[in-house]
Amino acid sequence: MVGFRHFCAVDKADRLTPVPCGVISAEPKGRERERDECEMSTTIIREMRFEAAHFLPKTPEGHKCRRLHGHSYVIEIHVTGEVDPETGWVCDFDELRQAFLPLRVQLDHHTLNEVGGLENPTSEVLAGWLWERMILLLPGLTAVVVHETCTSRCVYTGP
Ligand SMILES: [Zn+2]
Repeated sequence: MVGFRHFCAVDKADRLTPVPCGVISAEPKGRERERDECEMSTTIIREMRFEAAHFLPKTPEGHKCRRLHGHSYVIEIHVTGEVDPETGWVCDFDELRQAFLPLRVQLDHHTLNEVGGLENPTSEVLAGWLWERMILLLPGLTAVVVHETCTSRCVYTGP
């Protein structure tokens, strides 16, 4: 009888190799590993918040979004990767928070239109702007979600 097979054994050396958040680790050298049996693609999501003012200069005259106004933005950072068999996680949620913090400094309680690259700060533009900066620190980034209001949000999954 063939019982449950689990092939997640990883060489000790592999466990000690730091792997960037959400990146599938390199194949172990010298020994075949049956990856199909142990890959567990999982997405973790960290939610971050900030307050900012903006206006949308490309909307028609009289459009309410053309006037200066503010939002309590909620940002979701999605990172997808294998669950590490040793740690039991894709990566530390705090890595997602850390990737966002320098950007939060630029955005929180600012007028987004004054931030380089956000001259027309729609949710879509903001999501792309955040992606371009966070992908450098989070190679496993799979989505940035910008909640502009409780009922309106934009999901960006990369170029
Ligand atoms: Zn707005």
